[in-house]
Amino acid sequence: MVFLPHSSTGQLATIPDDIPISEFMLNEKYGRLAHDKSSDPYTCGLSGKTYTSRQVVERVDHIARGLAKEFGWSPNKGTEWDKTLAVFSLNSIDMLPFCWAVHKLGGLVSPANAAYSAAEMKHQILDSKSQALFTCVPLLPVALEAAAMAGLPRNKIYLIDVAPQLLGGAKPPTEFKSLTQLLEEGSTAPALEPLKWGPGEGARRTAFLCYSSGTSGLPKGVMISHRNVIANTLQIVAFDGGFRDDFARARGLETFKEVGLGLLPSSHIYSLVVINHSGPYRGDQVIVLPKFDLKSYLASIQNFKITGLYLVPPIIINMLRSQAECSKYDLSSVMTLFTGAAPLGMETATEFLKIYPNVRIRQGYGLTETCTVVSSTHPDDILLGSSGILLPGFEARIMTPENEEVTAYDTPGELVVRGPSVVLGYLNNEKATKETFEDGWMRTGDEAVMRVGPKGTEHVFIVDRIKELIKVKGLQVAPAELEAHLLGHPDVADCAVIAIPDDAAGEVPKAIVVKSASAGSDEETEKSIKKHVEEHKARHKWLKGGVRFIDAVPKSPSGKILRRLLRDQEKEARRKA
Ligand code: AMP
Repeated sequence: MVFLPHSSTGQLATIPDDIPISEFMLNEKYGRLAHDKSSDPYTCGLSGKTYTSRQVVERVDHIARGLAKEFGWSPNKGTEWDKTLAVFSLNSIDMLPFCWAVHKLGGLVSPANAAYSAAEMKHQILDSKSQALFTCVPLLPVALEAAAMAGLPRNKIYLIDVAPQLLGGAKPPTEFKSLTQLLEEGSTAPALEPLKWGPGEGARRTAFLCYSSGTSGLPKGVMISHRNVIANTLQIVAFDGGFRDDFARARGLETFKEVGLGLLPSSHIYSLVVINHSGPYRGDQVIVLPKFDLKSYLASIQNFKITGLYLVPPIIINMLRSQAECSKYDLSSVMTLFTGAAPLGMETATEFLKIYPNVRIRQGYGLTETCTVVSSTHPDDILLGSSGILLPGFEARIMTPENEEVTAYDTPGELVVRGPSVVLGYLNNEKATKETFEDGWMRTGDEAVMRVGPKGTEHVFIVDRIKELIKVKGLQVAPAELEAHLLGHPDVADCAVIAIPDDAAGEVPKAIVVKSASAGSDEETEKSIKKHVEEHKARHKWLKGGVRFIDAVPKSPSGKILRRLLRDQEKEARRKA
């Protein structure tokens, strides 16, 4: 049985497949960003610096010309793989203009998590074969170490401007060219010839290379096409269209303009597409914050009268635990709270609504591999615990482990989806691509049920995760990556890494370890193993769930770790404790 979007979810517009994202975003033929030249798509929540849409359009053009001059690139020469740039930066109002400038040249951007260690960043530079690294001053030491390890010369490191509040009064080092310098050089460089793409080229060309471990194994480059981003933007716009019109009518306005929160890392697909593309495409304003700090977050909501919060569950939990601070700010402008990237607990949602009864909580479900949103809550059809209803353009199936289709409601199975934003596949990994994608369908590795809500619509409930992935504060941790790393420790003979629930982070990794003959006491070994992770891996991958020692890691006859068994053992131990 194939589940389809409800008829009320809006009509999906034709998805252009012969243009880059930059054209889609900046040409007023398509979206609203460039309509009102004085509107302000990106504003820094710390400094208040803002770009009008006229400035964004001009900046993209100048940055593109600057990049063309700097790297000797031209829009119609070479493929995107000859024009690949890695970005390792905190959120900045220059981020999206930079990405669109690369797209205007037919290039691709590989965004990396700003929490990465040097070793993790090195891996992404090498794997994506990035020709240069764009970073920011606060991350420069890690970026330099990563570049040195990857063999990328120092003159291939560039600085993106971030809010001056992050620099502590220090001047950016002049050794590295800044994006502003590139832009200035570009402003006097020759105009670029437009990209000459034929039909389907936007569907074949990779625009972003984000990293995800998928259903198993190590993080892999996810090839996201121009059309994927354009499609999901249009799917979101179609889905939200009706109720945004209602919002506007209720205020006597022609169109509703959201003031959205741009706090989540723009390297993650949720922020990249939902916040930073679909928002400005419809003429919204994004208040960009470089990282989470409760006070600046609350102050931004108050000062900029933010109407739409885009969060992950741990930030909501943090708010609930910090009510003394939250109550000092006027948060009454907030109309909707959109949450995604990890499940939102019913208790958390209920508690939030008790304090903020006028806010509509919307949950979205999606993956890097679906170029974000598959399903989303409609504000007039809220069912707590549900991840909403399918976006127009998506089809869904629920499959049993025996690969049979589930045909009944309320019956769990793996969620398999098809839609125009399902990505091209994994870079240089045919095996994982074949296992995950087939005929446009994508195996999500998530266990779901479909349930009919009181309004007669079919809701997606994510009930468990079948795949190996651990999600800490909405960020990915691949057990296979930590296991490979732990096996490099002399005290570890064998190991498995599993998720355990955590009130604040949602989940945290825990290592189940078989000690080697040379290992010391449990206490010493645990300390040493944790340090080994902390020295080489981003903070969200640290073993906050602890270490348990075991005689043998349970495995199937083919050598696969029996993770569910380990998880059940942990559950049982917690129940008894
Ligand atoms: P990522 O590719 O980092 O966005 O991770 C995608 C994964 O996050 C999904 O496969 C789910 O396991 C999880 N996820 C995303 N949104 C939700 C949600 N609303 N409820 C439960 N899990 C979610």
